[in-house]
Amino acid sequence: MLNICEKYITISGEAPIIGEPTYLVRFSGCNLSCSYCDSIYKDEVQYRMSLEDIIEDIEQIVRIYSDIKILFTGGEPLLNKKEIVINKIAEYFDYLNFYIETNGSIEISDFSNKNVHYVLDWKTPSSGCANSFCKGNVKNLRMYNDCVKFVVGEEDLDWTRDKIDYILKRNPFISIYLSPQWGKIELFRLAEFIINNRLPVKLSIQLHKIIWGERRGV
Ligand code: SF4
Repeated sequence: MLNICEKYITISGEAPIIGEPTYLVRFSGCNLSCSYCDSIYKDEVQYRMSLEDIIEDIEQIVRIYSDIKILFTGGEPLLNKKEIVINKIAEYFDYLNFYIETNGSIEISDFSNKNVHYVLDWKTPSSGCANSFCKGNVKNLRMYNDCVKFVVGEEDLDWTRDKIDYILKRNPFISIYLSPQWGKIELFRLAEFIINNRLPVKLSIQLHKIIWGERRGV
């Protein structure tokens, strides 16, 4: 059985499916404790679901929303080898696209499903968890499927530029997103940082917070 913290339909707030109708499933539990974590309830368990339960649940969602994106997030959705279950779900719904938002600390071993997209969050120094990243994942990321995301505060800028360089040397065409740490850097500062350093990255925002504020379940 899998512990689910919460699940709901929303507009995705972040890269790479920002603005798209999305069914968000938040798995309970995380192996990190980032300074800015906005999922303080991440250990709560609202649902205990088997693989079959999750498939049935998604089937119900798809009946009302046929081309919705499915986002598995956390907490950390890859804890305890959950990618095995996630890949089975993705195989069953081979006409849907699944996004897995992982904190980057866990080695991804299965890149076989084309409809599974990894969003690798490389934790920055201000998160307090910068050393947790599993660097081996970088070279395995697939050009059109996966991406790397940095949530950046003012103090993280130089460090982030080095890491972008590191990624592009190993995986030159991978998509990279920079997202501002809420309240820790002005959006224009991040935009200027990208332009002034001619970085081949995309600026991302936490759209759900702009739409609904810092509320749970949206
Ligand atoms: S990885 Fe995500 S869920 Fe886990 S502590 Fe950090 S921000 Fe929170």
